[in-house]
Formats: sequence, C-alpha cells, structure tokens
Amino acid sequence: MKCSSCHREIVENLTLLELFFPSNIRCFHCQEQFKRIVWEQACPGCGRKNNPALCSDCQKWQKQSSFLLNNRALFEYSDGFQEWIEFFKFKGDYQRRFAFSTELKEALSAYPHYTICPLPLSEERFGDRGFNQVSACLDAAGVTYFPLLKRKRHDTPQAGKKREERLQLQQPFEMAPDGKKMRASKVLLVDDVYTTGRTLFHAADCLLENGFTTVKSLTFAR
Ligand SMILES: [Zn+2]
Ligand SMILES: [Zn+2]
Repeated sequence: MKCSSCHREIVENLTLLELFFPSNIRCFHCQEQFKRIVWEQACPGCGRKNNPALCSDCQKWQKQSSFLLNNRALFEYSDGFQEWIEFFKFKGDYQRRFAFSTELKEALSAYPHYTICPLPLSEERFGDRGFNQVSACLDAAGVTYFPLLKRKRHDTPQAGKKREERLQLQQPFEMAPDGKKMRASKVLLVDDVYTTGRTLFHAADCLLENGFTTVKSLTFAR
C-alpha cells in the first residue's frame, strides 16, 4: 500500500481498519508531518494553536475590521507541513493533494450550510503552477466548491493614480461571474496557510460588500 502523501510503499504494520479504508493512509514519516490543531483550544479569530482567548494579532484586526474570520486551521505550520507545501505547491508534486483528504472532508462537515470557496490565484500564478493548490486538495477530498471570487487584473501602473484609486487597488479580489449570480448567504473561504490573514480579510470584505452575510475561513495550516 502506498502513502497518500509521498507515495512511498508503506512498510509499517497496518491495522485492520486501515486495510479496509485505505483512502488516506500516510506513512510514518508523513503522519508525523501533520500535527492537528485542537480547535477547542485555538484562537477564535485565526485558529492559532493553544490560544483559547483572542490572540494579539487578532486583537489588532479587531480594531481595523468590523468582523473576524473565525479561522480554523487543520494543522500547525510545522517543519513537516512546510515540507509538504514545498513539494506540492512549489515543486508541483500534484499527487500530494491527497495527503489529508480525510481530515479535510471531516473538518468541512462542521460547516453544513456554507458555500465553500477556495481563494483564487492570479491568472499568472495559475499559468506558472498549472493548478490551484487549494482547489486541488478539495477535489482530492471530493468536496464541492464554488469559485465566487477572482483576482483583479492589474494592468495599469499604480503611479499617477489618486490616493483613493490606489487604496481600491489594494483589494486584490472581485466577484467572479458565477459569484455574482450566486445567492448564498454563508461562505467558507479556504486557503492553504493563514499567515497575516490579510488576503483572507480582503476576500471576505469583497464577499460581504456583495451581499453575502456570513464569511468564515478554514486553512490547511496556521
Ligand atoms: Zn509518506
Ligand atoms: Zn488569533
């Protein structure tokens, strides 16, 4: 049996259960790569581990923004996770999209009435990489999602623009054609890593301005 992340043959002993449900079995090395965050003990704003009160980063966001994302993250951004993302996203090892399908699907079951929306890449990025790393993992987990957003095209240089126009440009997203037609109220944004949260806040802002009432987010790591 092959590991769902690195595809090496698994030599460790498998339990009977794993033999009957082999969809998402990782080798010992890859199992160690992914460290789950316990949601009940995480920051209610960004999903940071072992931080049950709002963390200092989220307190800053609270002053700037009228909402919080209630982000939840599956895994710690550990060396192991970094290794996975390096192979998958930057070296283009597309097979790694199956690495945590079971955990992803299970986590999304906590959002039954939400429309799932992966963060889009710019056309340029998409062209370079050949796949959207978030959609690829959702596909691997058999999850239905809707591309409500798209990246704006920045073809005019920023210099020479008025201040208000420049501020507008900081918003990298706009509604995708399908997003404009969609009348869902609750959206769950999905991204790979929560770093500063800025990109997710922009995406949520765009949706809230376009009539969606609740926007939360889920990331693979924090
Ligand atoms: Zn492995
Ligand atoms: Zn936080």
